[in-house]
Amino acid sequence: MATPLPTLTECRQMLDTGKTSSLELTTQALECIAELDSTIGAFLTIIRDQALAAARAADARLVAGERTPVLGIPMALKDVLITKGITTTAGSKMLMNYVPPFNSTVAERLERAGAVLLGKLNCDEFAMGSSNENSAFKPVHNPWDHTRVPGGSSGGSAAAVAAGEAVFTLGSDTGGSIRQPASFCGVVGMKPTYGRVSRFGLIAFASSLDQVGPLTRTCADAARVMSVIAGGDPRDSTSSSREVPDYVGALKSTHLDGIRVGIPKEFFVSGMEPGVQAAIQDALCELERLGATLHDVSLPYAPYALPAYYIIAPAEASANLARFDGVKYGYRAAEGDAMWDVYAATRGQGFGSEVKRRIMLGTYALSAGYYDAYYLQAQKVRTLIRKDYEDALQTVDVLAAPTAPTTAFRLGEKSGDPVAMYFSDVCTIPLNLAGLPGLVVPCALVDHLPVGLQLMGRAWGEAELLRIGHALEQSSGAIGLPGRQIQRG
Ligand code: GLN
Repeated sequence: MATPLPTLTECRQMLDTGKTSSLELTTQALECIAELDSTIGAFLTIIRDQALAAARAADARLVAGERTPVLGIPMALKDVLITKGITTTAGSKMLMNYVPPFNSTVAERLERAGAVLLGKLNCDEFAMGSSNENSAFKPVHNPWDHTRVPGGSSGGSAAAVAAGEAVFTLGSDTGGSIRQPASFCGVVGMKPTYGRVSRFGLIAFASSLDQVGPLTRTCADAARVMSVIAGGDPRDSTSSSREVPDYVGALKSTHLDGIRVGIPKEFFVSGMEPGVQAAIQDALCELERLGATLHDVSLPYAPYALPAYYIIAPAEASANLARFDGVKYGYRAAEGDAMWDVYAATRGQGFGSEVKRRIMLGTYALSAGYYDAYYLQAQKVRTLIRKDYEDALQTVDVLAAPTAPTTAFRLGEKSGDPVAMYFSDVCTIPLNLAGLPGLVVPCALVDHLPVGLQLMGRAWGEAELLRIGHALEQSSGAIGLPGRQIQRG
């Protein structure tokens, strides 16, 4: 049986001291994928030969004495991140055969730092979904229970880390797509502040909400990945050139004395599973034991985040997806002579039903006569939600809440009911509307399924979140990987 990969921090130590090589780790990753991925379905593309070549090149750099946080580390990217010369599908038939001629900034930064790309990860089509069941190619199965979803839309990214197939992965989070699958798969997931990580080469879903971030086994691992991908980019005018702090150095102190943790009551929604609620309460008590103080706070407009998001995100998506018309690149339907017939046939065949639903919702909300009633109103709600966070984060340092109301649900359980599906992001969406950073840390197993605590912070406060998450992880211990879970008191 293939051995799951060690954590990034463990790999780093073994690589830097010559106890292992990138080639060995990469071979191990490829063996794991070969053994497990026909069941898990996390990968859409595996680039075996390129990965082995990159591993050899990384080994040469290591031998020459070079060190970076990710040098020689086998990893993989969600298939909404553009990779030069490597098929990038966004989980859609529309881009089934698309081989990009350029790299996304995050792919380029990881490549330059010597990370070893194993392949591209399954996701919901154009990152629209909460269960990975909207992938045009295949669903992903949760490594903890193969009958359950891994969460979405970065389901492949979370499952690959939980299955030990990749040391770390990148996902994208528009309304929770890094954090919710991190919670469902028992891994760490970070959504950075809007503008902290470049979106250049991220296939756009809703541009004012999308952020790229890491999925890892530990907070220290996330800190290392963040230190490579964060920072301004002249090719993304919404990225910030503000200095990137020392994320790894910030983890040194593991007591939380003086940290004020706010508990927003609106996040404990009705319909939340009692086991999830209890697990979150336990994690909050643990934060208190580490020296933090807990404070009840209120984000009164948070309950309006879900409806506002399902106006704003589809509105932006309808504009972003207009480029897929069968002319410039991507899928093109065979039939139709007139231009409009080609457009209609191409989009009708190339997009799946959830994507079509979003385009229709979005164009409707933006159309004359409805714009004021829906889109403008939703933008006003967004401003109020942002203000809620600003107010709350003046009295406390961070907020802590559940990530999702449930643990991983069964495949097919919600796919017939879009509203029930949308509800699984009720705890993650408010943060995207506010543009603030969030971190999910696995905190318990409930009926053998992982639950993650969500920490939310001030703009550019990633280091603080990582430090608190790391302290929690150190004191309560990791939950482990499926089949190797750690028994906890
Ligand atoms: N599940 C949410 C949606 O379907 C969020 C997706 C995301 O964060 N990319 O829109």
